[in-house]
Amino acid sequence: MVRTPRHLPAPRELVQSKAQWTHRWGEICVGRKKGDWATKGAKSVLKRALLRLAHGKCAFCEGTLGSQGYLQIEHYVAKTVDPSLTFEWTNLLPACAPCNGAKGHQDHRNLLLKSDDEDPEPYFWINPDNGELEPHPSLDDDGKARALTTIQLCKLQRGQLCEKRHRMAMHVGHWLNRASVCGENLTGDLAKELDWLLRPATEYKLAIRHVLELRGAGKLAQEDRQRFEAPIAV
Ligand SMILES: [Zn+2]
Repeated sequence: MVRTPRHLPAPRELVQSKAQWTHRWGEICVGRKKGDWATKGAKSVLKRALLRLAHGKCAFCEGTLGSQGYLQIEHYVAKTVDPSLTFEWTNLLPACAPCNGAKGHQDHRNLLLKSDDEDPEPYFWINPDNGELEPHPSLDDDGKARALTTIQLCKLQRGQLCEKRHRMAMHVGHWLNRASVCGENLTGDLAKELDWLLRPATEYKLAIRHVLELRGAGKLAQEDRQRFEAPIAV
């Protein structure tokens, strides 16, 4: 999980229909109407915009979201906890089914990290042996509680995910070993691989930056953040 600044404005259709869509959901919540929280058309508008927010990835686990079918609309404050925020643009994040499904409708009382408002990176430590996520040892009790809540709510410790983070961390370590003998003059495959690692759409930025920082390549980690957080063309 890394910072995903909300550079994109709310989609035009959301601005135009927010009151109507919110009213419809309110009617469903109190049992006056039946139906899903949003119409297919509304979901499609939101998904299109959200898919671009984290460069086509889940804002929590950083896994690539496939076709629109795999992208789910995550409500930071659950739509049953505060229905009035259901169509609030800043309350919406792109998530994969496992992360969104694990969180469900729980009221986390703002303990869940919110990647468009704050930088989640300092909250986490990646175990180099297995890719498991832990609260960063430098955190105070409040910080630890937020890191743990985020890990538990979105099940960021699921086995497959740890394996993928681990594999990415190993890959970066391997790249650094090979690059260290070339000095500043990266050529051929090494240059191509670096370009891929620093591409915003590449998965598991937390793992990539974690290894770069640990191995004294903080400048590359910083370059990666700048590329990822640069404004997206509207
Ligand atoms: Zn996810």
